[in-house]
Parts: sequence; structure tokens; C-alpha cells
Amino acid sequence: MTEQVKHIHDIDGMMTDEMSPTFCIAKWHQTTIYLHRGETHSCYHPHPHAIPMEKLQKDPSVLHNTPEKISQRMEMLMGERPDGCQYCWNVEDLGNDYVSDRKIRNAASYKPERLEEIKQNNYDFHVNPEYIEIAFSNECNFKCGYCHPMHSSSFYQEAKKHGPVPNVKNHNVDVSWFEAIDEKTNPYIKAWWEWWPEMSKTLNILRITGGEPLLHKTTWKLFEELRDNPRPHLELNMNSNLGMSHRHVEKLVRNVNELRDAGSIKKFKLFSSMETWGSRAEYLRTGLDINVWERNQDIYVRGTKSHISHMNTYNILTVTSYMKFLHKILEWRSIYEDVIPDNLGIHQHVRKIRFDSPYLKEPLMYDMHLLPKEEFTPYLDECLQFISDNMDNSDTTKFDDIEFERFRRLRDYFVTTQYDDHRLLEGRIDFYNWFTEYDRRRNTNLLDTFPEMADFHQMCKQLALQQDNNIIHRG
Ligand code: SF4
Repeated sequence: MTEQVKHIHDIDGMMTDEMSPTFCIAKWHQTTIYLHRGETHSCYHPHPHAIPMEKLQKDPSVLHNTPEKISQRMEMLMGERPDGCQYCWNVEDLGNDYVSDRKIRNAASYKPERLEEIKQNNYDFHVNPEYIEIAFSNECNFKCGYCHPMHSSSFYQEAKKHGPVPNVKNHNVDVSWFEAIDEKTNPYIKAWWEWWPEMSKTLNILRITGGEPLLHKTTWKLFEELRDNPRPHLELNMNSNLGMSHRHVEKLVRNVNELRDAGSIKKFKLFSSMETWGSRAEYLRTGLDINVWERNQDIYVRGTKSHISHMNTYNILTVTSYMKFLHKILEWRSIYEDVIPDNLGIHQHVRKIRFDSPYLKEPLMYDMHLLPKEEFTPYLDECLQFISDNMDNSDTTKFDDIEFERFRRLRDYFVTTQYDDHRLLEGRIDFYNWFTEYDRRRNTNLLDTFPEMADFHQMCKQLALQQDNNIIHRG
């Protein structure tokens, strides 16, 4: 066990003694807020829930301190497991030596004064969090299949045009029940700017997400606000699909360099999304042009001389081609090793081109657990071996042990988790019906892009046709 992993377990032991065995500081100090639809969750694993407008009008900090979160905090203080945090309980039920996100976040956000503030106050006090992820709008130029029209205006337009996807039990992208709130007149954005002067005094990290933030007017307003009212303690992060015209990324580079050089912010980090490569990535993330993306990454890294992190959405179509992504990581690490300065991270061996490998939980048709374990485990073993063969903690062009640990827990979770027959049947039928309609709507072809999935696809097709037959005969 290395220093970093040992530190995470040590903090976990201390938190269990001082707070509870289920305490997670992220429930107080980390929040994601979707202003375009008035919802929030802490952290991003539990389902988002509505922000009550009547309470918000009295106190803008209700954007984060909702009644639902306050009751989850109380559960944790009593040593109970809030249902919404099943993602972590799944990992912790694998055994004590597995590192769940709860343990990682407790170690990352632990400060004695933060724990003291929680201990000294009632469970329902309103906290100004140290980490906020914010979405100002759902405007987006991509329509990734595993995403949702709530987060993507172009996916919303497609779903509005074609209607719900037929014959699927999950993720039929019915949009008849919601409308994204217009950025210009949004009361949640009004509450954000009311809360900002106070909350931003103690805010450590602000992460802008979307939709696609580079297409949102409020993103550029925030850059202006930071120019006029600097926050030198603030680390600004942004998620971007890096799939738009180069001029947007050039504008970002100018703003980042200006704010950093003036000391108006402490640091800037960019997060993009990628979990395979080439035409496979373009199939999963409709709207992506892989060459435009790689050029935009280059413009950003060379323009800001900054790290970039790639978030995987490890899903059913990633399993057979994740190796392509791992090879690209090593390729970029060697290209940019001398472009990005050494002293930007928390220690000298921080990777300059980073990635994280969280597994997708939903929608079901994209869930890796639908795959037959025996046939597909070798793909994960090959990747784990590749990471291990190219692992050297002291060489930042190679993989490190946390990246190995993260993929090991994903591989073990894949191998040890078996859905019941009903869920498998439902998911596999949805897989066939979803991608059949996906290809019809987007003029794509799953098997041309993923030929190795032919047997699995055929099995799902048989199950779907059988179900149709049963329905017809039941008449
Ligand atoms: S316990 Fe896990 S899922 Fe729940 S808030 Fe903490 S990190 Fe998130």
C-alpha cells in the first residue's frame, strides 16, 4: 500500500472515530447545481433533486442547502447509509481495502476547522461549500447517447423532433415533461449572483459544467466578474467537450492567462471527456470530430501550459477499445511532458495529462454489466496488465498507482457483480432497441464501428424479437 492510499485509509479511520462510519464531507462541502433546471446533488453520484423556489427566495444558499441534503447529512451523522450514496456502498461492500469515492473525498477535503464547524453547529445549518460544480445552461453542440436532453440542447432538439425512443424501458429520452430555463431570465441564476459575493469568499474550487460551458454567456460573465472582483484563493475548473471551433478555445486561453497572470484566480484546470478513440468515440459522442478535438487540446495545453484531465464514462462500448485510449494517454504524456511546467501539481510526480475511470451507472443499455463476463473480462485484464506494465510512480509519462487502483476496482467490480436475469433481459433488449433507433436517427451503424460486438448484438436482437413475438401472441 503506498503513501497516498495509506493516507486515505488513515483519514477514514479518524473520520469514523470523530464523526461516523458513513460520514462523507462531500455532503456538506461538495455540490453540483444545475441552474438551467433548478436541481442539485452532493456529490454527483446521488440523483439530483429539486431546489425549493419558495425557500430559495428567502435564502440563496438554498441552491445547495436543500431540505433533502440536510436530512441525508443527519443520516450520516447517525452512522446510517443514505440510499442515494449506493455508488460508494457498492465499492465499500467489496472489502475494507477498496478505496471508495467517499474515502477519497474525505481525504481530499479534510481540514480540522471544517470538521469543527460541522461538529459545533446543528445538523441543519447552512454551509458555504468549498467545492461547487455549476451548470448555467444545457446549451451543447454534442448529443452523447448516454447523456440526456436535460444536459444537451442538441439532444433535446433531436428528442423533440423524433419523440421518445420506442420499445425501451430505460432512457427513452421523453422530453415532454421538461423545458430548460432560458439563461437570460433564469431565477436560479439570479439567486447564484446573490449568493456569489458571500459564498465565493470561502470557495476553494468552482467547476463550470454544462451543456458546453464555452457556449454559455454566463461563463464569460463569470470571467469578467473575476477580473473586476478577483478571488486569488479560488481554483477555477471547467468541463468542456473541446468539440467546438478553435476560436472558442483560443478565447478561453486568453481569459485563463489574463486571470492567472493578474492573480485574480489561484489556478485553472480543464476537464474533457473521452473513453475510447477515433470513430468509436465519434459514435458514442455524436457531434465530436476527433481531429478538431485533438487540435483543441493542443491549442489549450500549449496556450495555457496547463494540465488537462480526461473523464472516462466507462460504458458497454468502451470495454473492447479502452486500450486505444490508454495508448493515447501515454502518447500525449510524452508529447506534452516538456510543454507543461513541472511545478503545477500537489507533488512532483503529478501527471500532466490525467484521466479518471468512473464506471457508468445509467442508462441501463450502456451499462458494462450487460456483457457476458467470461467473454469480455479478458479485455479488462489486458488493460489492467498494460497499465501495470507501463506503471512508474516517479515517471510522469507513465501510469501511477492510483490510476492502477482505480482500474483494478473497476475490473473487480465488473467481474464480481452479476445482475439478476430480469435486469439482464431488460437491459439487453433495451440495448438492441436503443441502438437500432440511434442508428436510424443519426445515420450511423453500430456494427460497422464495433464489429467485435456482433455476437452480443445478435443475442440482444434475438431476445428483443422473442419479446415482440410474445407480446403479439399474448395479443
Ligand atoms: S458517500 Fe459517496 S456518493 Fe455519497 S456523497 Fe459521499 S462520495 Fe458521494
